[in-house]
Amino acid sequence: MNNALFQSDIKSLKLLNRGKVRDIYEVDQDHLLIVTTDRLSAFDVVMPTPIPGKGKVLTEISNFWFEKLEHVVPNHLTGIDPASVVKESEREQLAGRAIVVKKLRPLPIEAIVRGYLAGSGWKEYKASRSVCGIPLPANLREADKLPEPLFTPSTKAEMGAHDANISHEKAEELLGKDLAAKVRGVCIALYKEAASYALGQGIIIADTKFEFGQDKHGKLYLIDEALTPDSSRFWPADQYKPGMNPPSFDKQYVRDWLEASGWNKKSPGPELPADIAAKTTEKYRLALQYLTQSHIDKLVSGYMRFRKNNYEKNQDLFERLTKQGQSPKTIVVGCCDSRVDPAIVTDCDPGDLFIIRNVANLVPPFENSGNFHGTSAALEYGVRNLEVENIIVLGHAHCGGINSLLDQKDGGDSQSGFISGWMKVASQARNRVLSRMQSKSKDEQLRACEQEAILVSLDNLLSFPWILERVASKKLALHGWYFDMEKGELLHYNPTSNRFEAFSAQ
Ligand SMILES: [Zn+2]
Repeated sequence: MNNALFQSDIKSLKLLNRGKVRDIYEVDQDHLLIVTTDRLSAFDVVMPTPIPGKGKVLTEISNFWFEKLEHVVPNHLTGIDPASVVKESEREQLAGRAIVVKKLRPLPIEAIVRGYLAGSGWKEYKASRSVCGIPLPANLREADKLPEPLFTPSTKAEMGAHDANISHEKAEELLGKDLAAKVRGVCIALYKEAASYALGQGIIIADTKFEFGQDKHGKLYLIDEALTPDSSRFWPADQYKPGMNPPSFDKQYVRDWLEASGWNKKSPGPELPADIAAKTTEKYRLALQYLTQSHIDKLVSGYMRFRKNNYEKNQDLFERLTKQGQSPKTIVVGCCDSRVDPAIVTDCDPGDLFIIRNVANLVPPFENSGNFHGTSAALEYGVRNLEVENIIVLGHAHCGGINSLLDQKDGGDSQSGFISGWMKVASQARNRVLSRMQSKSKDEQLRACEQEAILVSLDNLLSFPWILERVASKKLALHGWYFDMEKGELLHYNPTSNRFEAFSAQ
């Protein structure tokens, strides 16, 4: 079936071991050939159905990390082409899933690092507020990030038995004090770097297991596999929520199916239906794609996801857009730092808002001098041609633009006149705040200035005759909103009380 490899068959080399997933052959005294098959084990039983392509994905992910983390610790890769150590007729089964490695003496421990509270760690924490005997703060939730990553070694169990956690003292006994300390330091460094990189790619590495080996001089190498969905717990960062067990990229999908199938979890496992096997392949591929894709690829796959989720499932939204064109009833003048996206704050559909970005949301001064700024032109287009019914000036907490205004950094704009024109309007907000809040903290001044700037902007909007006209005839309303990102609160200006007040929840 479609190129799945359940078991390798290399007759030209001596087979040393078939693990749950890997077949290991001896190349010569100093080298091994490792073939990562498409076998899948769940509940410590190898399933009879292979997962097509899984071995290739695992190989690619491991090689990616070996290279990325080489500066922390050397690894067992040799760069020798696997095709060169077997007969020509045996090459095909190795393609993309084999490596030639240094033959090293494996350390007798599994080096586990945990960055989050999950699985057996969570079970132990609930019972004794510790993980592998290491005491932890109270009130942690399932899947919470730990204050610091924990190194929790375990013994290597024989085939079929479960690994047992051991204390750091026991690890020192097995490895010697110096080596135990070195392994621990390397593990934490590897985990920290990998976790921080993966997070930027949209994956949380909740925990992982490393294996190490030594050469005859005692030099330490990373061996086996590195940071794959088989040796780690991967969670999609965008679905992460502490307090519950997040969905994972690993074989949880198959495990759920097996649980539901009524299988008694004893060997042999049941055959997996083709769609379950295919879906599992997809999960492994997704993990690889998340980890290795560039930012442009990410945007493109974001579009693909958008198309699948919205265009294909939510056709009416797009029918509405194509039929009506984008016909917003509201302009939002937001600040140019763009951290606060009005469409996200108001959870609205694309096209519902006409968004204009301007320096710290202050509308530029009206110009009759021919020095008409793009922001004013956009406003005029929205008001005259789209006939919007509302203009919202949306300010926000921790605004970089307003912070600079408060510190009087005007950006040294001497040529265009736009920034200095803007500053003339904007400084009114600054002056009002400083005159009444001289003795207050910088934070309080900043917050007041952010809100005052919204009011100045609202006043300034009325200096555009085409706005004034429509406001006077009640065809257009002006609103001042302030989004407090810290509290997640949206405030609006109430002219009657002359204050910013929270919208009451429905
Ligand atoms: Zn801002």
